[in-house]
Amino acid sequence: MANSKRDELIAWLKDAHAMERATVDNLENLLKTIDDYPELRTRFASHLDASRRQRDELERELHRLGTDTSALKDWAMKLGGKAQPFLSWFTSDSVPKNCLAAYAYENFEIASYRSLMGAAEELGMAELASLCERAIAEEQQMADFLIQSIPAITQRYLATCPSAA
Ligand code: MG
Ligand code: FE
Repeated sequence: MANSKRDELIAWLKDAHAMERATVDNLENLLKTIDDYPELRTRFASHLDASRRQRDELERELHRLGTDTSALKDWAMKLGGKAQPFLSWFTSDSVPKNCLAAYAYENFEIASYRSLMGAAEELGMAELASLCERAIAEEQQMADFLIQSIPAITQRYLATCPSAA
């Protein structure tokens, strides 16, 4: 028999939770590489706080729906493999390239929360729908900042390169 709507929603919530765990890891790593980019640093640091909160809110929601913490760990492990090619974009040591990856990732987060929001509305879960709405606004803010700043970030990066002989 096919999964119930509720089972589908729980699976998508687990995906979103694993996604935010990956976000938190990524941002912690990125923050170590951007000392020379103060505004980017500030933005990433505050988005890291937001991402930790999103991760915890999703976890509380999953607990309410009867999923325990060990099930979440298994899920994140399984998904880790699938997400690897995507996350490997972040391993570049160039700040501009990491910003391109971050922009793509923010947009993936927005799409994920929009899907989850549609599901939450369908199942009459108003609280989850507004959690998604808040998250979408936060991801959008980060994405907007990145897309605006990428040229300047690239120029700043180029300024650190030795001039051609
Ligand atoms: Mg997020
Ligand atoms: Fe994000």
